[in-house]
Amino acid sequence: MKRSNVKAAVLMLAGALALAATSAEAAPRKRAPAHPKPIPVKPVVENPIADLPFPRFDHGPQVASACTTGLEGAMLRVKELEKRKAGADWLKGWEALYDWEEDQSGALIFLQNVHPNADVRTEAEKCEQRWSAFQTALGMNELVYQGAKQTASLLKDPVDRRAAQRALEGFEDSGVALPRDKQARARAIADKLGTLGQQFDRDIRDARVRVAFTEAELKGVPESVWKDQPRDADNKVTLPIDGPAYVTAMQTAEDAGARERLWRAKVNEGGPDNLKVLAQIEQLRLEQARLFGFASYDEFVLRRRMVETPARATKFLEDVRAAVVDEDQRDVVELRQAKARHLGQTLEATKLQRWDTMFYSARLLHERFAVDDEAFRPYFPPQESLRFVMRVAEKMFGIRYDKVADANVWAPEVQAWAVTDVASGRKIATLFVDPYPRDGKYNHAATWNYRNSATSVPRQAQSALVVNFDRRGLTLPELETLMHEFGHTLRNNLSATRYASDAGENVVQDFAEAPSEMLEDWVYDKKVLKVFQEVCPACKPVPDDLVDKARAARDFGKGMQVARQQLYAAYDLALHGPAAPDPMDTWEKMEAATSLGYVPGTTFPSGFAHIAGGYGAGYYGYLWSQSVAADMRTAFAADKLDPKVGARLRNSVLAEGAQKPPQQVVKDFLGRDASSQAFFDWLRK
Ligand SMILES: [Zn+2]
Repeated sequence: MKRSNVKAAVLMLAGALALAATSAEAAPRKRAPAHPKPIPVKPVVENPIADLPFPRFDHGPQVASACTTGLEGAMLRVKELEKRKAGADWLKGWEALYDWEEDQSGALIFLQNVHPNADVRTEAEKCEQRWSAFQTALGMNELVYQGAKQTASLLKDPVDRRAAQRALEGFEDSGVALPRDKQARARAIADKLGTLGQQFDRDIRDARVRVAFTEAELKGVPESVWKDQPRDADNKVTLPIDGPAYVTAMQTAEDAGARERLWRAKVNEGGPDNLKVLAQIEQLRLEQARLFGFASYDEFVLRRRMVETPARATKFLEDVRAAVVDEDQRDVVELRQAKARHLGQTLEATKLQRWDTMFYSARLLHERFAVDDEAFRPYFPPQESLRFVMRVAEKMFGIRYDKVADANVWAPEVQAWAVTDVASGRKIATLFVDPYPRDGKYNHAATWNYRNSATSVPRQAQSALVVNFDRRGLTLPELETLMHEFGHTLRNNLSATRYASDAGENVVQDFAEAPSEMLEDWVYDKKVLKVFQEVCPACKPVPDDLVDKARAARDFGKGMQVARQQLYAAYDLALHGPAAPDPMDTWEKMEAATSLGYVPGTTFPSGFAHIAGGYGAGYYGYLWSQSVAADMRTAFAADKLDPKVGARLRNSVLAEGAQKPPQQVVKDFLGRDASSQAFFDWLRK
């Protein structure tokens, strides 16, 4: 499964606008406050700042007041932009507005995830809603839209033209270009989709479903998982249906009846109400697409993505299915055999159920590879692990990381690092790292690329890498996660586009994850792992056979997992095609055709929050970006640390951001057209 895709929480003018119309994801999560008071128009004097210290906030009211200042400045810039002459001058004003917005809101909004003071976090969240309302209003600004439209047709230089074109697309997708009556309907639909998306999430979250078990029914489940869980009136242990407790219980509970009850609660989360909500979302999305002149919602969304058309996405998914169908069946047989052995019965008498798969996968994995993730911790101390991923990047990309003393940071133990281009000796970015857990802090691993660089003005990149290292050291999967998130910071730090709105990760959704996914593989490479001794001569080298086992374990059950992802993605596209069929009927038919079949009484779509939210018509993107990652990885087949290939990756992919179409970016790097061959080779392996 994929890790969290939370990243780049900065508001992107063009990006956010494009999303606002295409899905529920960009709609503010809560109702936006009333429009801030109008302000007098004053001339704007731009004074671009290459580097900014991280802002310091000690209490909530400071945040609210900084937020107001930022928004007032943005509105001033909008007023001024309305009067600008179309062409180069307009684009300059547009980009100045973008830069201002990032500088005023990027770091501030990010603080809702990490600031030690709860009032600061709350005010930062409120500020995000205010900026969201600003975005919506800007998206419907007729004068600015006209400026974008004329500018896009006037500019000749390809980079300028593309920047203006992307701005224009954002406006078009917001509905400002539609006739008045359709415009009103488009807005109403966007609002309604936002509300329905929230309702769908709420129905899952607020139900707080727990399933009760006697201690005997939890045989096999480690005591540490259930001992501190709440008890019900009958003194039974109640387990949640999410998080590590759910996963561990499904992997370890010997009692099939207990597993079945827990699994059924999970697969029915959201309940029958959510099936109705999903059907409404589906119909409204279809209506929205038709307002814009498209036959289906997936066509409307995918035209702005790397995959471009529903036909290409469908073909890709069909190929994936064909590639894994045999391995999926082999995996199912293997698990069935494991079940027969475990229960001491014949294979013929054994039926593998959906609530068996996690349990028997975990058993087989343990039998076959005996991998204990904990065994890796002594080899990967936290601070040295961070230096390790930096050192790998230094070797690949000709850069250097230097720790900054006395930098402004948001909490003790947060580190600031200056990133320098070795060839020119120029500092190009600042990377902040928040390494250890603390109360009130975001509790997974994620990157916020809250400030993007530009070459047209003095402007350096800044990003924040937020992780929660175990002070005893990292496991190999944790090192892999670190490498993935660090990859997101590289895309921000090494970007070199003319405009910040084109920089770093302001790329299309189905291209954003590819470089990070590519780099995950680096921590399973023995030569790469030897770099660890360069940053920690005193660390004992991790034994090769431990790495081999971990690598084999990683690919175990691949057939079944990929087949499942394929089913989710194909289902998503089926819902968002021109027919918009009933969500539950469609799911039942599609799941019935899989090797484990459909279990009567279950309603998986009622809890499928991805497609009710931002991944509607976009779930294929998980497999798609894996395919792009595998393709790019082929360039490093001989040596993952090759500085020549690294320089090419830096110059043609990381530096280019969204300045060129993704297909072109990949082609420039590989010296040939993008291909899914490497991904399919891996699937068939
Ligand atoms: Zn990611």
